[in-house]
Amino acid sequence: MKIAFFDTKSYWKDSFGPLAAKYGFEITFFNERLTPATAKLAAGHDATCSFVNDEVPAEVVRELKNLGIKVLLLRCAGFDSVDLEVAKECGLPVLRVPAYSPESVAEQGAALLMAINRKCHLAYERTTKFNFDIAGLTGIALVGKTAGVIGTGKIGQCMINILKGYGMNIIAYDAFPNPNLGLEYVTLDELYARADVISLHCPLMPATRHMIDKDAIAKMKDGVILINVARGGLVDSEALADAVEAGKFRGVGMDVCEKEHEYFFEDRSNLTQHDPTLKRLLSNDKVLISGHQAFLTVEALDAIATITLDNAKAFAEGKELVNEVK
Ligand code: NAD
Repeated sequence: MKIAFFDTKSYWKDSFGPLAAKYGFEITFFNERLTPATAKLAAGHDATCSFVNDEVPAEVVRELKNLGIKVLLLRCAGFDSVDLEVAKECGLPVLRVPAYSPESVAEQGAALLMAINRKCHLAYERTTKFNFDIAGLTGIALVGKTAGVIGTGKIGQCMINILKGYGMNIIAYDAFPNPNLGLEYVTLDELYARADVISLHCPLMPATRHMIDKDAIAKMKDGVILINVARGGLVDSEALADAVEAGKFRGVGMDVCEKEHEYFFEDRSNLTQHDPTLKRLLSNDKVLISGHQAFLTVEALDAIATITLDNAKAFAEGKELVNEVK
């Protein structure tokens, strides 16, 4: 099998390169993201391998089909980048990595929570300049506070375990509550009203796009901390920037954001003009943004490579496609 690998970075080559040889697969590593403009690079391959910020809308799916691509491999859990209807129409299976290291993703959420609450980013800025003044760095003790977790799947459950370790009380919302978790499920409105920390762990889809909008933010407690390591589109960033500037939040920690397609995984420091909303968020010290790195652990990278190539092998051998997105 020949795989056209898009949006290549050194850490992807390190994890996929040696392993692909063991599977007997040939990988062409393209630096380009998969987009309508770059889809033609897939000519001569059997499969594409794409990541979260590659774009696989209807036109790309159809072009890939015409180029002879037989299967779409996603090296991520989320599948919001692909037009699934059209992939189905074209007979192109979409195979993903439903879970690789949910702990790694939740740990990034916890890292952002601790850093933004205890203002580690501001402390670092000061101490690296030999400024050891701690005025303005007051945080809150999380013990005894209430965390509202939205989405109680694999990553949400890992986050809950971590938050319980901090001594927090957990309330949760899920469109499909899991009775086996022994959690206190509440409505979204109740979660907004009670939570001191809100952490998002549900998928991005039409029903959840901008679920955190102006109205939802207005229902939250003043001084709430919002953590998003799920998908940027869950939050209306304009409304978020307005609320941050109005002093609504104690802090916001994000590993994802709406405009990340234009920025993440690249050094964009040379651009002369920036997205105004992202700029507003980044210039406020109540906001800490990491560039979609929650998956970036040794364990997660190994698991992503193994499961992606297992998916490709199952397809090549006509076996059951256990990780097909239906
Ligand atoms: P999962 O499928 O195990 O859990 C998702 C949960 O969300 C499920 O319990 C589901 O019932 C719930 N849900 C579905 N619709 C909902 C709705 N409308 N409102 C509330 N809850 C709803 O998925 P997971 O592995 O826990 O991953 C969650 C999300 O995290 C993924 O969809 C992905 O977008 C994101 N993610 C981000 C990174 C990163 O690097 N930042 C890495 C992996 C996954």
